[in-house]
Amino acid sequence: MAVRRSLSILGATGSIGTSTLDLVALHPERFEVVALTAAKQVAALADAARRTGARLAVIDDEALLPELEARLAGTDCRAATGRAALNEAAVCADLVMAAIVGCAGLEPVMAAVEAGRVVALANKEALVTAGALMIDAATRHGATILPVDSEHNAIFQCLVGSSLDEVAKIVLTASGGPFRDRSLAEMRGMTPKQAVAHPNWSMGAKISVDSATMMNKGLELIEAHHLFGLPSDRIDILVHPQSVIHSMVEYVDGSVLAQLGSPDMRIPIAHALAWPERMTTPAERLDLASIATLTFEQPDPERFPALRLARAALEAGGAAPIVLNAANEIAVAAFLDHRIGFGDIAALVEQAIDRTDAPPPRSVADVIDIDARARDTTLQLMTAFAT
Ligand code: NDP
Repeated sequence: MAVRRSLSILGATGSIGTSTLDLVALHPERFEVVALTAAKQVAALADAARRTGARLAVIDDEALLPELEARLAGTDCRAATGRAALNEAAVCADLVMAAIVGCAGLEPVMAAVEAGRVVALANKEALVTAGALMIDAATRHGATILPVDSEHNAIFQCLVGSSLDEVAKIVLTASGGPFRDRSLAEMRGMTPKQAVAHPNWSMGAKISVDSATMMNKGLELIEAHHLFGLPSDRIDILVHPQSVIHSMVEYVDGSVLAQLGSPDMRIPIAHALAWPERMTTPAERLDLASIATLTFEQPDPERFPALRLARAALEAGGAAPIVLNAANEIAVAAFLDHRIGFGDIAALVEQAIDRTDAPPPRSVADVIDIDARARDTTLQLMTAFAT
């Protein structure tokens, strides 16, 4: 019988957050939800707090606090807003699902790490921007970071019990996104609606656009470097359109271990929530006979320049990954808002990287400062791109 653990879900109303809530509802004996957070979806947040019996609900948009209070009237759940409340949500449970999108999730993730919690990390941007600082803080404070991203979760599973000296390389698989077969000219004209229509995965808008540009794989490359301690030249990216193999580890003896499963985020989420045990999920079982064929190809660096930019940022280190991420967040939001074209996203990120000169961050405050300056620079550069 599993021990019941307290759980906070940061970003409870998003794609990862709601999948987490679905799994918690299936396994009430395993989890006691204590805190939930959201940015704007106040009704969904209040509903989830009522359903789970959470004691703290945090809404990022402070104008929505009165509505949250009204919706939670008669319950034992406290409604709150602001930085301190978000950080409280991050530290008040044994296990934290970090599923806020973007660098906005960095501070609460760091708060959980510094409190020595078990952090199920979906919020890759937090690790991309604060990488070495976060890994160092986890070591000092005895925190455990469990990867939720399907690729990193797959590698985590394939690495169990092995020393890094035994690993030749890791291979991150990529679906190639919705524009894998499109020409460069066709890609330039793609709309937000086409970009978020991922062929295999159902995800939030930002990560869906990142998949279409393949910046998602670039961010994952940086994430993998920090999580597994391998240099850039021991992390490969391989396009695998069926999204059945979620990633692989090649060992020095030539053995390759892969983790397979249906493309359903509930599988890696369940793995992180139940770790070091396992728990059931309603995810469709893999039927390899009906899938029949698994294919692989090299990513095309010309049509997906984000991969080159991310690898260069990883190899440059210091502030470069922070600038890459900040510029990408601004560019993706502008694309989703029809203010720039699809092809402008990587071009804008590249210009922002060239334009920003910042020393390596020594603290999370430095990361936040570099992030803010890179956002300003990107917004200024964007005037030349606006459609
Ligand atoms: P969604 O956009 O679906 O959800 C994001 C969540 O974060 C929502 O609860 C949202 O609240 C909240 N949020 C957004 N902005 C802020 C902010 N400024 N402050 C506080 N809360 C905020 O994202 P996903 O669930 O798709 O992704 C979450 C993270 O997980 C991302 O980092 C993504 O890269 C990663 N990930 C996602 C996968 C997926 O399948 N979706 C797969 C692997 C990784 P509200 O709803 O109120 O706006």
